[in-house]
Amino acid sequence: MGFRNLNMKKKINIKEKSQQFKVWQKQPRQVKPMSQEEHECLNCHDHYTGNFCPRCGQSANTDRFSMKVAAENFADAYGMGERGMFRTMRELILRPGYLILDYLRGMRVSYFAPFKMFFLLFAISVFVTHGLNIKGKALYDEHQTETVLQGMNEGSTAEEAVTTETDTLENDNESARLSERTKTIMYNAIEKMEHFEKRFPSIVMLLVLMLISGMLFFFFRHCPNIPDLRYSEFFIALLYTTNMYTIYSIVFDFFCLSNLSALSIFLTLIPLKQMSGYSWRRTTMKTVAAALIMFTALVLSLLLVIFCTVLLVKKFG
Ligand SMILES: [Zn+2]
Repeated sequence: MGFRNLNMKKKINIKEKSQQFKVWQKQPRQVKPMSQEEHECLNCHDHYTGNFCPRCGQSANTDRFSMKVAAENFADAYGMGERGMFRTMRELILRPGYLILDYLRGMRVSYFAPFKMFFLLFAISVFVTHGLNIKGKALYDEHQTETVLQGMNEGSTAEEAVTTETDTLENDNESARLSERTKTIMYNAIEKMEHFEKRFPSIVMLLVLMLISGMLFFFFRHCPNIPDLRYSEFFIALLYTTNMYTIYSIVFDFFCLSNLSALSIFLTLIPLKQMSGYSWRRTTMKTVAAALIMFTALVLSLLLVIFCTVLLVKKFG
């Protein structure tokens, strides 16, 4: 009886906690109230209440130099001071879509700017994939892939030499040579793209989102939370979404869990759902629909590229 009671209590507690968490997620960030303390500006000696001097703009918390202040100055030089880089990162994990809503609705100073964050996270992810991880090794061996590419190129030129030799004898070989050459070109291109994707996952993620952003925007532009969503606003939302993805991939790459890193693409549904206010089902359906349309378009354009390559190879060899 006592045990069951305890279990019930625990269950209710978890339920309550998750309810509280959901309420917290949806609530816009609370900015601390202004202190009523009077300050004397150390720069222009005006007296005022508030966080900044109304005359010259110097902060009320201007302390003497200490290691902490020096470190903050250093961070500031790299754009990481003041505007809550770590808080923004934490909220990108805990409430990404609601953070985006806050930002779009005008809470700009509370959050780290999305573009700046993108480049910063990208720089970190480059460090992590180049050896700043628990194995201390570059995750994607450039040399290895290059050798593979080189080997393939050599193979294809050797083949070419052979085929050109026989070419003069047999004209039937023409079509076989053509398809072989086209295949090599396409294969090389795909290999290079894969290589790029492994080394710069967040850039690829951004490109993917940009690519399907038009379609996604078409499906989300009248969402319940922002019925008159603009494309530029949606772009910012996608940028924060990419930042969230990059944080996950940095963490997974740091622990050398590349498969999890690839899977975290599905986590991008979370900010889309929270931001739009659609249900999980509708968010998923809309995203899948946009991705499918874009995928079809991509396949069609790829076929077109293959067709053009064949034509070019035919013409110029
Ligand atoms: Zn002042």
